[in-house]
Amino acid sequence: MKERYISAKSMGLVSCHECHLLSRWPEISGSKIVYCPRCGSELHQRKPNSLTRTWALLLAAMIFYVPANLLPMTVTAAVGTVQADTIMSGVIYFLHHGSWEIGIVIFIASIFVPFMKFMILIYLLLSVQFKSIKQPKNRIRLYQLTEAVGRWSMLDVYVVTILIALVKLGVLAEITAGPAVIHFALVVVLTMLAAMSFDPRLIWDVVEEENHE
Ligand SMILES: [Zn+2]
Repeated sequence: MKERYISAKSMGLVSCHECHLLSRWPEISGSKIVYCPRCGSELHQRKPNSLTRTWALLLAAMIFYVPANLLPMTVTAAVGTVQADTIMSGVIYFLHHGSWEIGIVIFIASIFVPFMKFMILIYLLLSVQFKSIKQPKNRIRLYQLTEAVGRWSMLDVYVVTILIALVKLGVLAEITAGPAVIHFALVVVLTMLAAMSFDPRLIWDVVEEENHE
């Protein structure tokens, strides 16, 4: 059975991005900017240039993902030796030295989760661009998932910070954050901005268009 959906946009309504007040979209708005009657923010029926912005931010995040994984995340200097660790070599180190739980947490937070977020956002963007009407509810759930894990993405930066603090307590080794940290932070921030730029209502617009035909 085909489900039917009606969007607020097709009913001439608009929701405020800031205070979520639902108000009437002026019938003849022309090119005039419309403001929220309650909080005064600029109103948009859909986030402006959502697809282009999301693609741009996502591609930038994917570019920074390369140095984030290839450059050293930590540089450890013990007596006579200097060791630079990338995220992956850090994971392997933890797996081999007993703290495999930490290794898995770092792997999931730093390698797996950002990669999954890229894949989900690419899938959502392509599904809207190719006007897919398949499983809109599941796609919304995927979008909510990327937003929900966003706040956990900085976990790795915390792990590095804690590690540095722990090693600093010891006298034998000196540990500093490597250049990968800044790239990794950029990946996290850019992916979060990409997810925020994506307007999930575009998924329903395509479904609604299809219903009218
Ligand atoms: Zn408002």
